[in-house]
Amino acid sequence: MQGIDAQLSQLAHRRKNLPQVSALDELRRERETVHARSVQAQTKVSDLTADQRKADGEVAAVRARRDRDQTRLDSGQVTNPKDLQSIQNEIVALDRRIGSLEDAELEVMEELEGAQSELALATDALAALDARIAEELGGLEDATSEIDAKAEALRAERGAAVERVADPLLTLYEKVRNSHGGVGAAALRHKRCEGCRLEINGADLREIASKPSDEVLRCPECDRILVRTHEAGL
Ligand SMILES: [Zn+2]
Repeated sequence: MQGIDAQLSQLAHRRKNLPQVSALDELRRERETVHARSVQAQTKVSDLTADQRKADGEVAAVRARRDRDQTRLDSGQVTNPKDLQSIQNEIVALDRRIGSLEDAELEVMEELEGAQSELALATDALAALDARIAEELGGLEDATSEIDAKAEALRAERGAAVERVADPLLTLYEKVRNSHGGVGAAALRHKRCEGCRLEINGADLREIASKPSDEVLRCPECDRILVRTHEAGL
């Protein structure tokens, strides 16, 4: 039963320390970073798109005003030289304004292109990370169900073993196991207790040798249930 319990705790340890668990931790951390980058890029794209639309509107408004001025000028209805001069001056000023607005718009568009390619990169990176996470999750599921199947078989074996052990011994075993790091019973092999790994002195060995083979013994050093083997060294 101790052998089964040792295997069960080994399986539980393996289940908790599967390589996929740490790989997934790392991938999820990486994904968080990339996701933050993608959110940042998305915000930048939205802001710059709004900026570009606004710049578009501004250019269109100034251009409309310039066109109105030009139409008035071309219509021949304005004859006063002072008014004509003032309209011409305004057209020159509006042309300059259109020029600088278009320069600014171009800058916004360049920045927007940069943000868009940043966003595309982050989106691709997220997709690649998600694929790797899915792959690791699949591996984790396979490894976990394999361990669970083994553990289930061992628990069935343990159930059958429990039937063969007398109640008081089973109670003692569970008690010692709980207080001794999961090892309630240990083999005596080559004069050594395999629970605490200490060699048992001659006097204790002689006493052990004198006991009937069905008597439950305890290790004089660690107090675990001591199971005599063929190579006990008695
Ligand atoms: Zn011991």
